[in-house]
Amino acid sequence: MHNVKLFIDGEFKNSASLNRIPVTNPASAEIIAYVPDALAEEADQAVAAAKKAFQSWKAVPVTERARVMMRYQAILKREQTRIASVLAAETGKVFDDAMGDAWRGIEVVEQAMNAPGMMMGETVENVAQGIDTYSMIQPLGVCVGITPFNFPAMIPLWMFPLAIACGNTFVLKPSEQDPQTPMLLAELFVEAGAPPGVLNIIHGGRERVDQLLHHDDVAAVSFVGSVPVGQHVYRTATANLKRAQCFAGAKNHTVVMPDASKNHVINNLVGASVGAAGQRCMAISVAIFVGESQQWIDELAQAIAAVKPGLWNDKEAGFGPLISASAKERVVALIESGKAQGATCLVDGSDFTVAGYEQGHWIGPTVFRDVTTDMRIYQEEIFGPVLCCLCVDSLDEALAIVNANPYGNGTSIFTASGAAARKYQSEVSVGQVGINVPIPVPLPFFSFTGWKNSFFGDLHAYGKQAVRFYTETKTITSRWPEDSIPAGPNLTINLR
Ligand code: NAD
Repeated sequence: MHNVKLFIDGEFKNSASLNRIPVTNPASAEIIAYVPDALAEEADQAVAAAKKAFQSWKAVPVTERARVMMRYQAILKREQTRIASVLAAETGKVFDDAMGDAWRGIEVVEQAMNAPGMMMGETVENVAQGIDTYSMIQPLGVCVGITPFNFPAMIPLWMFPLAIACGNTFVLKPSEQDPQTPMLLAELFVEAGAPPGVLNIIHGGRERVDQLLHHDDVAAVSFVGSVPVGQHVYRTATANLKRAQCFAGAKNHTVVMPDASKNHVINNLVGASVGAAGQRCMAISVAIFVGESQQWIDELAQAIAAVKPGLWNDKEAGFGPLISASAKERVVALIESGKAQGATCLVDGSDFTVAGYEQGHWIGPTVFRDVTTDMRIYQEEIFGPVLCCLCVDSLDEALAIVNANPYGNGTSIFTASGAAARKYQSEVSVGQVGINVPIPVPLPFFSFTGWKNSFFGDLHAYGKQAVRFYTETKTITSRWPEDSIPAGPNLTINLR
């Protein structure tokens, strides 16, 4: 049985920990590998390696750091199919979606290739007589990333390439549920020319995370995962005076106006709601139908019911299983709560299975209508292939529902009216808005800007905000004396 290694100071090595966590194939529940719950001293070694490497890595010219990213981008593209195969086998994602997981990460590496331009400071000449002020952007030191199971390529790649291109070094603690994908990313990073200690990977759960959050030599923490853990990480990291950005759970709404194109709405909402088995933080899990558009719900439900889950290498499969038995148990319980609380279940996937893979964590597509905001299926993040449909009479009512929701990751509106779209984009309290685009994940030259309980912190992932997150600004005021400098001491705060 394959034992997942640690990656410390340029070496892939077995952990000495006797505590091993099984990694399973979610389609069959078979154990495919074991990942160690690393020892405290191994986490310390990873931070120490990163701290040591920082001294030399920060002095490597930014152009050379960018070239490592250029090589990394080319290698990731070359190996995209291999990454997607490893990723699909341990997450159950269908192959094309696994390719997308890798690709959306590669795009962030492309942004990291632009590090020189992004790290330019500012200059003002002659702020006072003979005095110039300029700023430079410098790295922080050792940065830590804690990542979730649902995008094991994309989310680590949201973090370490940019942090490292900015001159930092990195310790990654990936999800214990699919750790083989990030290990492959590390292997390819070595091939790209990353020196030892620049990227390190340890495995484990809460204890290892807490150790990193308390570690004196860690400067900044990036986290992506669920709300309770995100709050814990943000509180602990900031209480230890570290910079932190924590991306958390979501409940993303789409608003369907009656003037929208029905076919466009249906074609888009099928994939946006049940794609990746709903295990996307930007999945649409609530659709609010305004006025007459509620007549389309049955047709949408039929289109969603036609999507068949299956194995990752089944070309007919629309999506794969849930990640674990406990994830399935939670989603089934929520579906049952929806029925018990009075929602109408138009499509029920709770009994779905794939022949020959009955032990897998399958849930078929599920659609509820007559959902109200006091129901658990509305209030909780389901993270399964379940769409909740609500009906209202006006855009104002729809906006009030979306704005009262505690999450604010993504939302969309389908409409033919520029005025309705403009009102929605302006008044909605959600950080990423799609107009006739169901899942508005920004490309990496923008930033991933969730709001409210979907994000704790201020500077967001990738884009210019991530460069600010992973760097410090130093401002220099300089004078090179000439004859004109006034004689005698200056006892005021004025420059002269
Ligand atoms: P999770 O919170 O269970 O785990 C995330 C990471 O935290 C993992 O590395 C895990 O090992 C670690 N962890 C788990 N429990 C911990 C604890 N008590 N203390 C410290 N660390 C702990 O999340 P998950 O189930 O892997 O991922 C799914 C969640 O992630 C969903 O809520 C989803 O919405 C969210 N997510 C959010 C975004 C976003 O950008 N907002 C993106 C992807 C996923």
